[in-house]
Amino acid sequence: MTRRRTQGGASSARPGRESRAAGRIRAVGREMMGLREKRLFIMIAAGGLLLLTALAAVAWYLIAPRLTEFHPDLPGIVAVVAGVAFVAIALGLTTIAVSALTGRRIVFGSSITSAVVWILFPPVLMLATIIGLDRDAVKRSFIAVNNALVRAGNAGERPGRVLLLLPHCLQSTECPNKITGGLIENCTGCGKCVIAELVTLAQETGLSLAVATGGTLARRVIGEVRPDAIIAVACETDLTTGIQDSYPLPVYGVLNERPNGPCRDTRVDLARVREAIGVFGARR
Ligand code: SF4
Repeated sequence: MTRRRTQGGASSARPGRESRAAGRIRAVGREMMGLREKRLFIMIAAGGLLLLTALAAVAWYLIAPRLTEFHPDLPGIVAVVAGVAFVAIALGLTTIAVSALTGRRIVFGSSITSAVVWILFPPVLMLATIIGLDRDAVKRSFIAVNNALVRAGNAGERPGRVLLLLPHCLQSTECPNKITGGLIENCTGCGKCVIAELVTLAQETGLSLAVATGGTLARRVIGEVRPDAIIAVACETDLTTGIQDSYPLPVYGVLNERPNGPCRDTRVDLARVREAIGVFGARR
Protein backbone atom coordinates (compact mmCIF):
# COMPACT_ATOMS: atom_id res chain seq x y z
CA MET A 1 0.00 0.00 0.00
CA THR A 2 1.42 3.36 -0.93
CA ARG A 3 1.49 5.91 1.83
CA ARG A 4 1.89 9.65 1.46
CA ARG A 5 2.16 12.53 3.80
CA THR A 6 -1.03 14.56 4.09
CA GLN A 7 -1.59 18.23 4.79
CA GLY A 8 -4.76 19.80 6.23
CA GLY A 9 -5.98 18.35 9.51
CA ALA A 10 -3.07 15.95 9.83
CA SER A 11 -1.66 17.55 12.95
CA SER A 12 -4.68 16.65 15.06
CA ALA A 13 -3.73 12.98 14.61
CA ARG A 14 -0.79 13.48 16.98
CA PRO A 15 -1.33 12.21 20.53
CA GLY A 16 0.56 15.14 22.05
CA ARG A 17 -2.45 17.41 21.57
CA GLU A 18 -4.47 15.69 24.22
CA SER A 19 -3.36 16.11 27.82
CA ARG A 20 -2.61 12.87 29.67
CA ALA A 21 -5.33 13.45 32.27
CA ALA A 22 -7.99 14.12 29.62
CA GLY A 23 -6.83 11.06 27.72
CA ARG A 24 -7.06 8.93 30.86
CA ILE A 25 -10.58 10.21 31.65
CA ARG A 26 -11.68 9.45 28.09
CA ALA A 27 -10.14 5.98 28.33
CA VAL A 28 -11.91 5.25 31.65
CA GLY A 29 -15.20 6.51 30.17
CA ARG A 30 -14.76 4.28 27.14
CA GLU A 31 -13.87 1.33 29.40
CA MET A 32 -17.08 1.78 31.44
CA MET A 33 -19.10 2.07 28.24
CA GLY A 34 -17.30 -1.01 26.90
CA LEU A 35 -18.23 -3.04 29.99
CA ARG A 36 -21.90 -2.14 29.55
CA GLU A 37 -21.80 -3.04 25.86
CA LYS A 38 -20.09 -6.39 26.43
CA ARG A 39 -22.59 -7.36 29.13
CA LEU A 40 -25.56 -7.37 26.74
CA PHE A 41 -24.16 -10.06 24.42
CA ILE A 42 -23.02 -12.23 27.33
CA MET A 43 -26.36 -11.90 29.15
CA ILE A 44 -28.37 -12.85 26.05
CA ALA A 45 -26.07 -15.84 25.45
CA ALA A 46 -26.44 -16.94 29.10
CA GLY A 47 -30.24 -16.42 28.94
CA GLY A 48 -30.35 -18.44 25.71
CA LEU A 49 -28.43 -21.28 27.35
CA LEU A 50 -30.83 -21.33 30.32
CA LEU A 51 -33.84 -21.27 27.98
CA LEU A 52 -32.38 -24.11 25.91
CA THR A 53 -31.73 -26.12 29.08
CA ALA A 54 -35.29 -25.59 30.30
CA LEU A 55 -36.70 -26.65 26.91
CA ALA A 56 -34.42 -29.72 26.87
CA ALA A 57 -35.55 -30.66 30.40
CA VAL A 58 -39.23 -30.42 29.41
CA ALA A 59 -38.56 -32.45 26.23
CA TRP A 60 -36.69 -35.07 28.24
CA TYR A 61 -39.55 -35.29 30.77
CA LEU A 62 -42.06 -35.82 27.96
CA ILE A 63 -40.10 -38.42 26.00
CA ALA A 64 -38.49 -40.31 28.92
CA PRO A 65 -41.34 -42.92 29.14
CA ARG A 66 -40.91 -43.65 25.40
CA LEU A 67 -37.15 -43.99 25.79
CA THR A 68 -37.70 -46.55 28.56
CA GLU A 69 -39.58 -48.71 26.08
CA PHE A 70 -36.36 -49.01 24.03
CA HIS A 71 -34.11 -49.63 27.02
CA PRO A 72 -34.61 -48.93 30.74
CA ASP A 73 -31.22 -47.13 30.97
CA LEU A 74 -31.79 -44.86 27.94
CA PRO A 75 -33.42 -41.90 29.81
CA GLY A 76 -30.47 -41.83 32.21
CA ILE A 77 -27.92 -41.95 29.36
CA VAL A 78 -29.68 -39.11 27.51
CA ALA A 79 -29.78 -37.05 30.72
CA VAL A 80 -26.04 -37.57 31.33
CA VAL A 81 -25.11 -36.65 27.71
CA ALA A 82 -27.31 -33.53 27.86
CA GLY A 83 -25.83 -32.62 31.25
CA VAL A 84 -22.25 -32.95 29.96
CA ALA A 85 -23.15 -30.80 26.90
CA PHE A 86 -24.68 -28.16 29.18
CA VAL A 87 -21.61 -28.05 31.45
CA ALA A 88 -19.27 -27.80 28.41
CA ILE A 89 -21.27 -24.91 26.87
CA ALA A 90 -21.59 -23.18 30.25
CA LEU A 91 -17.81 -23.47 30.79
CA GLY A 92 -17.14 -22.09 27.29
CA LEU A 93 -19.49 -19.18 27.94
CA THR A 94 -17.89 -18.49 31.32
CA THR A 95 -14.48 -18.47 29.64
CA ILE A 96 -15.69 -15.93 27.09
CA ALA A 97 -17.35 -13.78 29.76
CA VAL A 98 -14.29 -13.68 32.04
CA SER A 99 -11.90 -13.13 29.14
CA ALA A 100 -14.08 -10.41 27.59
CA LEU A 101 -14.79 -8.58 30.84
CA THR A 102 -11.24 -8.71 32.19
CA GLY A 103 -9.44 -8.44 28.84
CA ARG A 104 -7.15 -11.33 29.85
CA ARG A 105 -6.43 -14.53 27.98
CA ILE A 106 -7.54 -17.49 30.07
CA VAL A 107 -7.42 -21.28 29.80
CA PHE A 108 -8.35 -22.01 26.19
CA GLY A 109 -6.69 -19.08 24.41
CA SER A 110 -8.09 -16.59 21.97
CA SER A 111 -8.70 -18.82 18.97
CA ILE A 112 -11.18 -21.10 20.71
CA THR A 113 -12.97 -18.26 22.45
CA SER A 114 -13.17 -16.39 19.14
CA ALA A 115 -14.57 -19.49 17.48
CA VAL A 116 -17.20 -19.78 20.18
CA VAL A 117 -18.13 -16.13 19.72
CA TRP A 118 -18.37 -16.75 15.99
CA ILE A 119 -20.67 -19.72 16.60
CA LEU A 120 -22.65 -17.92 19.32
CA PHE A 121 -23.37 -14.71 17.44
CA PRO A 122 -26.14 -15.92 15.02
CA PRO A 123 -28.31 -17.57 17.72
CA VAL A 124 -27.78 -14.64 20.10
CA LEU A 125 -28.87 -12.17 17.41
CA MET A 126 -31.86 -14.36 16.56
CA LEU A 127 -32.91 -14.60 20.21
CA ALA A 128 -32.49 -10.83 20.66
CA THR A 129 -34.67 -10.20 17.59
CA ILE A 130 -37.38 -12.57 18.88
CA ILE A 131 -37.55 -10.79 22.24
CA GLY A 132 -37.56 -7.38 20.54
CA LEU A 133 -34.10 -6.04 21.43
CA ASP A 134 -32.34 -3.49 19.24
CA ARG A 135 -30.29 -5.51 16.72
CA ASP A 136 -27.66 -2.76 16.37
CA ALA A 137 -27.16 -2.71 20.16
CA VAL A 138 -26.59 -6.48 20.12
CA LYS A 139 -24.15 -6.12 17.21
CA ARG A 140 -22.28 -3.38 19.09
CA SER A 141 -22.09 -5.69 22.08
CA PHE A 142 -20.77 -8.53 19.91
CA ILE A 143 -18.11 -6.18 18.48
CA ALA A 144 -17.11 -5.11 22.01
CA VAL A 145 -16.80 -8.76 23.11
CA ASN A 146 -14.83 -9.63 19.96
CA ASN A 147 -12.49 -6.67 20.50
CA ALA A 148 -11.87 -7.71 24.10
CA LEU A 149 -11.03 -11.25 22.98
CA VAL A 150 -8.73 -9.94 20.22
CA ARG A 151 -7.07 -7.69 22.81
CA ALA A 152 -6.67 -10.64 25.19
CA GLY A 153 -5.32 -12.84 22.40
CA ASN A 154 -2.72 -10.26 21.34
CA ALA A 155 -1.49 -9.24 24.79
CA GLY A 156 2.26 -8.76 24.53
CA GLU A 157 2.40 -9.88 20.89
CA ARG A 158 2.94 -7.86 17.74
CA PRO A 159 1.59 -9.25 14.49
CA GLY A 160 3.83 -8.72 11.46
CA ARG A 161 1.41 -6.84 9.24
CA VAL A 162 -1.68 -4.93 10.33
CA LEU A 163 -4.16 -3.64 7.77
CA LEU A 164 -6.26 -0.57 8.54
CA LEU A 165 -9.37 -1.15 6.44
CA LEU A 166 -11.65 1.85 5.94
CA PRO A 167 -15.15 2.19 4.46
CA HIS A 168 -15.64 4.35 1.38
CA CYS A 169 -18.27 6.46 3.20
CA LEU A 170 -15.49 8.14 5.25
CA GLN A 171 -14.39 9.94 2.09
CA SER A 172 -16.00 13.34 1.54
CA THR A 173 -18.77 13.17 -1.06
CA GLU A 174 -17.21 16.34 -2.55
CA CYS A 175 -13.89 14.62 -3.17
CA PRO A 176 -13.23 13.97 -6.89
CA ASN A 177 -10.37 11.50 -6.25
CA LYS A 178 -10.69 7.74 -6.48
CA ILE A 179 -9.06 6.29 -3.38
CA THR A 180 -10.64 2.83 -3.13
CA GLY A 181 -8.77 -0.45 -3.52
CA GLY A 182 -5.05 0.29 -3.79
CA LEU A 183 -5.46 3.94 -4.75
CA ILE A 184 -5.14 5.65 -1.36
CA GLU A 185 -2.18 7.63 -2.79
CA ASN A 186 -4.75 9.65 -4.77
CA CYS A 187 -5.80 11.37 -1.52
CA THR A 188 -4.16 14.78 -1.73
CA GLY A 189 -4.54 15.34 2.02
CA CYS A 190 -6.81 18.36 1.62
CA GLY A 191 -8.33 17.76 5.08
CA LYS A 192 -11.98 17.89 3.99
CA CYS A 193 -12.49 14.45 5.48
CA VAL A 194 -10.86 12.17 8.05
CA ILE A 195 -9.05 10.14 5.36
CA ALA A 196 -6.14 12.60 5.38
CA GLU A 197 -5.60 12.11 9.12
CA LEU A 198 -5.88 8.34 8.82
CA VAL A 199 -3.26 8.29 6.05
CA THR A 200 -0.91 10.22 8.34
CA LEU A 201 -1.69 7.90 11.25
CA ALA A 202 -0.98 4.84 9.08
CA GLN A 203 2.34 6.37 8.01
CA GLU A 204 3.31 7.11 11.61
CA THR A 205 2.39 3.66 12.89
CA GLY A 206 3.56 1.54 9.96
CA LEU A 207 0.15 0.17 9.06
CA SER A 208 -1.06 -0.86 5.60
CA LEU A 209 -4.07 1.21 4.65
CA ALA A 210 -6.91 0.58 2.20
CA VAL A 211 -10.38 1.94 1.51
CA ALA A 212 -13.05 -0.54 0.38
CA THR A 213 -16.49 0.05 -1.12
CA GLY A 214 -17.90 -3.23 0.18
CA GLY A 215 -17.26 -6.82 1.20
CA THR A 216 -16.00 -7.99 -2.21
CA LEU A 217 -13.34 -5.29 -2.50
CA ALA A 218 -12.43 -5.73 1.18
CA ARG A 219 -11.82 -9.45 0.59
CA ARG A 220 -9.71 -8.64 -2.47
CA VAL A 221 -7.58 -6.16 -0.49
CA ILE A 222 -7.14 -8.69 2.32
CA GLY A 223 -6.06 -11.29 -0.25
CA GLU A 224 -3.47 -8.87 -1.69
CA VAL A 225 -2.10 -7.51 1.59
CA ARG A 226 -2.29 -10.85 3.46
CA PRO A 227 -2.32 -9.14 6.89
CA ASP A 228 -1.81 -10.90 10.21
CA ALA A 229 -4.49 -8.71 11.78
CA ILE A 230 -7.04 -6.12 10.69
CA ILE A 231 -8.32 -2.92 12.23
CA ALA A 232 -11.64 -2.34 10.49
CA VAL A 233 -13.69 0.85 10.60
CA ALA A 234 -17.35 0.38 9.61
CA CYS A 235 -20.96 0.37 10.78
CA GLU A 236 -22.41 -2.35 13.05
CA THR A 237 -23.63 -4.56 10.20
CA ASP A 238 -20.45 -4.42 8.10
CA LEU A 239 -18.24 -4.98 11.13
CA THR A 240 -20.13 -8.03 12.40
CA THR A 241 -20.12 -9.53 8.89
CA GLY A 242 -16.45 -8.69 8.38
CA ILE A 243 -15.41 -10.16 11.73
CA GLN A 244 -17.16 -13.43 10.90
CA ASP A 245 -16.01 -13.55 7.24
CA SER A 246 -12.37 -12.92 8.16
CA TYR A 247 -12.22 -15.55 10.91
CA PRO A 248 -9.68 -16.83 12.06
CA LEU A 249 -7.87 -13.57 11.21
CA PRO A 250 -8.17 -11.26 14.24
CA VAL A 251 -10.29 -8.22 13.37
CA TYR A 252 -10.53 -5.30 15.80
CA GLY A 253 -13.66 -3.29 14.99
CA VAL A 254 -14.01 0.49 15.31
CA LEU A 255 -17.50 1.88 14.75
CA ASN A 256 -17.87 4.88 12.50
CA GLU A 257 -20.02 7.89 13.35
CA ARG A 258 -22.89 8.83 11.04
CA PRO A 259 -23.93 12.44 11.60
CA ASN A 260 -25.21 12.65 7.99
CA GLY A 261 -27.02 9.31 7.99
CA PRO A 262 -25.71 5.93 6.87
CA CYS A 263 -23.09 5.59 4.13
CA ARG A 264 -22.59 9.36 3.64
CA ASP A 265 -19.78 11.57 4.92
CA THR A 266 -19.26 9.39 7.97
CA ARG A 267 -16.52 10.00 10.56
CA VAL A 268 -14.43 8.04 13.01
CA ASP A 269 -12.99 8.94 16.40
CA LEU A 270 -9.20 8.91 15.85
CA ALA A 271 -8.64 8.18 19.54
CA ARG A 272 -10.46 4.88 19.04
CA VAL A 273 -8.36 4.06 16.00
CA ARG A 274 -5.17 4.81 17.97
CA GLU A 275 -6.47 2.62 20.78
CA ALA A 276 -6.98 -0.21 18.25
CA ILE A 277 -3.46 0.28 16.90
CA GLY A 278 -2.16 0.03 20.47
CA VAL A 279 -3.83 -3.39 20.81
CA PHE A 280 -1.53 -4.75 18.11
CA GLY A 281 1.52 -2.93 19.43
CA ALA A 282 2.26 -1.33 16.04
CA ARG A 283 5.14 1.14 15.98
CA ARG A 284 3.92 4.57 17.09
S1 SF4 B 1 -10.10 11.73 0.53
FE1 SF4 B 1 -10.44 13.53 -0.75
S2 SF4 B 1 -11.58 14.95 0.57
FE2 SF4 B 1 -10.71 13.39 1.91
S3 SF4 B 1 -8.75 14.28 2.58
FE3 SF4 B 1 -8.29 13.01 0.78
S4 SF4 B 1 -8.39 14.42 -0.94
FE4 SF4 B 1 -9.41 15.46 0.78
